[in-house]
Amino acid sequence: MHASYRECLAPSVLSNSGKALNVMARELFGQDGTAAPATADERFDFDITYASQGLEAIEQVSRAGEDRFAVAFIDVRMPPGIDGRETARQIRALDPEINIVIVTGFSDFSPLEIARVAGPPDKIFYIAKPFEVEEIVQTATALCHRWQADRALAATRAALAAKIEELEEQKLELAMNESKAVHIANHDLLTDAPNRLAFLRSLAGLVRGERGFATALIDLDRFKLVNDTFGHVAGDQLIRMMCALIQQHGPDNALVARLGGDEFGVLFAAPSEDAALMACERLVQACSTNFRLFGHSVQSSASIGLVVVEGGVRIDPIDVMRRADLALNEAKRRGRGIVRLFDESMDESIRFRRRIEGGLANAIANDELRLVYQPIVEHGDLSVVAFEALLRWHSPEYGMISPDIFIPIAEESNQIHDLGDWVLDTALATLRRWPEQYVSVNFSPRQFRRQNFVAHVVERVQRAGVSPTRLQIEITETAIFDDAERAAETLYRLRQMGFRIALDDFGTGYSSLYNIRKFALDCLKIDKSFIDGMGRERESAAIVQSIIHLGRALGLEVVAEGVETPAQVQALRIAGCSHLQGYHLSRPVDADESVEIARQRHVVAKPVSMPMQIEVATGTFA
Ligand code: C2E
Ligand code: CA
Ligand code: CA
Repeated sequence: MHASYRECLAPSVLSNSGKALNVMARELFGQDGTAAPATADERFDFDITYASQGLEAIEQVSRAGEDRFAVAFIDVRMPPGIDGRETARQIRALDPEINIVIVTGFSDFSPLEIARVAGPPDKIFYIAKPFEVEEIVQTATALCHRWQADRALAATRAALAAKIEELEEQKLELAMNESKAVHIANHDLLTDAPNRLAFLRSLAGLVRGERGFATALIDLDRFKLVNDTFGHVAGDQLIRMMCALIQQHGPDNALVARLGGDEFGVLFAAPSEDAALMACERLVQACSTNFRLFGHSVQSSASIGLVVVEGGVRIDPIDVMRRADLALNEAKRRGRGIVRLFDESMDESIRFRRRIEGGLANAIANDELRLVYQPIVEHGDLSVVAFEALLRWHSPEYGMISPDIFIPIAEESNQIHDLGDWVLDTALATLRRWPEQYVSVNFSPRQFRRQNFVAHVVERVQRAGVSPTRLQIEITETAIFDDAERAAETLYRLRQMGFRIALDDFGTGYSSLYNIRKFALDCLKIDKSFIDGMGRERESAAIVQSIIHLGRALGLEVVAEGVETPAQVQALRIAGCSHLQGYHLSRPVDADESVEIARQRHVVAKPVSMPMQIEVATGTFA
């Protein structure tokens, strides 16, 4: 047997049979033989080891080390030692990769039986005796190739697995770095307490919640002195100690943050102002202590500004901070080492509001209010179809105050109802002096949502002896979208009675263009910010354009507000805007002047020079 193997795999035989195979391959697969089987050109320089007995072969395999065998040709019968099946089993146990070729002349064992002990089936082969030379050469060559390919694949797999492991490690490291970065972003480096960012985020969360809470700003007294006298290192040390003290003595579950410098912020749940005040008093006491700082004795103390926000009260976090700051300033001014609870007298802007409220309460009685009227013109011949009534207040304390300032205050303090009634009555009185125009009156959200709003307006109109068709009610998106269901119903009823409805400042609110279909409207007023931006920004021009389209599609009039230039007039006309209003056509005028304009049906607008405007218009809408 060994002799015939030697013959089969000897280089000379190989080259002979190789040559023969080459010829055949060329015939079968063409001249270049690219698809030819591997036997021909990539012939192996077989390194052959012979064993006469199974145990000897097993011994060879076990000693192979790095020089592993690719193929084992095993005779089934090898007396007197162990048989081929047992040999195959033990070899397989030693080397899971080796290809085993069983060479047999008898059917001693079925292939299945051998495969069972020396498996896997894809690494077990059979050659029947007597064999052909080519059979042995081909099998040896093919299995060597495969063995090499398998090893290369295994190596690649191992490298891949190593790479994956490396990536997993990197991922872990990244995640750790990220959480470290998040920690750094939210914490103060010196004290490791939450920083200002984290503090403001928590504050924003509390403001949105339903529970009452307290915000305390703590400032170390005379910290600068320590810093300047003993140096920054001592200053840093003091900050750390104070931070620890505040954390230790603060209320349970309080958030203690270092906001910067020597300022700390504390957020905590507060059932009442008294409870919050007591908690802060304790903090002040805890902070007032004697430290040993680098061998020096330092007396520390802190001042606290406190704001308590009751549950359910809506307030801007910025306002909370501002108020706490005001209270803290007050505490420092009052001698340090104390707590000051914010009260409204500390806040200039609140004082101002209270003054305005006070002033407004007397404004009607003292005859300080006036209405002015701004013409709304039709786009074609610029004839005046209506006037918007705009409120003016000459306060004895502040002079002329813009409605943008006092209307929101009146709205918050409920004075808006008296004010609104006065506006409506006055506007209706003036209206009676105009031949045919209607009046457009602004109603704030609170007025619109008032109980029996419809009945209230109807009564006023009837009392004035005016047709509802001559009153346009201007409301904003906020007024209707906060309670859309009810607003839709109110608008429907108003419109049934003949009133006109305009949606004011359109485009600035949150209403989707789609939603407004649900509401009974006559008119959209494009906010003046868009008209203003039209010549400058593409977006504004596009918004104006689409509001006009939308209005027309829904059969609504569209009023452009704040028209200030002839170019805007021209551009809006081209875009198909139905009505115009703005300083270019007329500023708001007093009642007498409005009567004059109403009778003439025209404002004395500056003549329009066409070519220039067309140029601008195409520039805008191209
Ligand atoms: P609004 O309803 O949007 O009124 C238009 C504002 O734009 C008016 O300011 C008007 O004077 C101004 N305006 C008109 N044309 C032009 C223009 O070409 N350029 C510019 N830059 N501005 C123009 P006003 O009178 O100061 O009113 C401000 C806001 O106060 C009004 O905005 C309205 O929301 C509110 N308001 C005024 N009167 C009343 C009122 O009687 N009741 C209620 N609830 N709100 C009112
Ligand atoms: Ca308006
Ligand atoms: Ca407006």
